[in-house]
Amino acid sequence: MKITNIEAIPVNVPLKDGMTTKTSHGIHATSPYVIIQVHTDSGLIGLGEATVAPRWSGETSASCTAAIEGLICDALTGMNPLNIQQCQYRMERVIKANPFTKAAVEMALWDLLGKHCNEPVFRLLGGSVHDVLPIRMVIGSYDIPQALALAKQFIGEGTRCLKVKVGMDPLADIERVEAIRNFAGPDIPISVDANCGWTFDQAQRTIRELEQFDLLFVEQPIATDSPEQLAELRCRSNIPIMADESNFTTANALDLIRRDAVDILSVYPGKHGGILNTLKITALAAAAGIKCAVGSNLELGIGTAAMLHLGSAQNIIDSTTYPGDFIGPLYHVHDLLTEPLSLGPPAAIVPDSAGLGVTLDHDVLQRFKDDNASHISLG
Ligand SMILES: [Mg+2]
Repeated sequence: MKITNIEAIPVNVPLKDGMTTKTSHGIHATSPYVIIQVHTDSGLIGLGEATVAPRWSGETSASCTAAIEGLICDALTGMNPLNIQQCQYRMERVIKANPFTKAAVEMALWDLLGKHCNEPVFRLLGGSVHDVLPIRMVIGSYDIPQALALAKQFIGEGTRCLKVKVGMDPLADIERVEAIRNFAGPDIPISVDANCGWTFDQAQRTIRELEQFDLLFVEQPIATDSPEQLAELRCRSNIPIMADESNFTTANALDLIRRDAVDILSVYPGKHGGILNTLKITALAAAAGIKCAVGSNLELGIGTAAMLHLGSAQNIIDSTTYPGDFIGPLYHVHDLLTEPLSLGPPAAIVPDSAGLGVTLDHDVLQRFKDDNASHISLG
């Protein structure tokens, strides 16, 4: 089999009314992403999705499309798509960084391999360890009435775990978490995610105040530029610490582990440049005795499917203790698939048909196609 073309299709899919998120990175109201189709001379097409966000990885749908059309397509055309390692190495040679763009191409290669073998991707990764993957719904850093309305909606729909965005104003953060804990009662696990928003001193004081609310973990309390401060914070915190923005590369993960800076690593294919790179990080975590949880950039259907296959096949990704962010499609007006994924709440089920197990709805794709992708949107 040979790759004949890699097609990059910019889309812009809004979040549902009332389901936008708000973090210390800003408001996420619409998703200017890129759908990838890897075409082959066999007629099989591999599907990928780049959940690019400039404030997250520096990539935009315009930069992703340019990288695919200007560099990656030329580099991979003529290669056997089943040689995923070789294709990944070739991508690394033609363009640095750009993890979400590379991950989109790489997940399309896994999709092709699965379709070629008539096996789901999780089986190609060693088989399923977890058949059912609990999810957690995310509540933006909104004022208390709006945050409580979301908590009520999510729990009413069957959600058994919540993540609350903090990292804005420490006092308002504490009040938001207190209100949600009081509403949810003691049996709903709650974590918080500061998205780098607190200073070291704010983080230290705020985490101490949050200890009374029985939190599962605090995610990315401070900025990424000081892993030694993250280690110091972890040392002083009675709540487990998770790294998300600090953990993009294998080198990042190794550094955090060596410094004893984290209890849990947030992982997902987009952030690490693909499934293979994520497996390197989960292997490091397993060697260090650190658990992993699946994070998210609010993917559509294809990106979420890649996360489900990975989460299903890795024992060290503990979605039972730390429910995963297999949630993007629940927030968007459409997932771009002909058949939606089974995401619950309270739990997602990994698709078991060939490849990623999803089919792109081309009519819906046309509806959300973004002809103005060269204009940078912050989502
Ligand atoms: Mg996060």
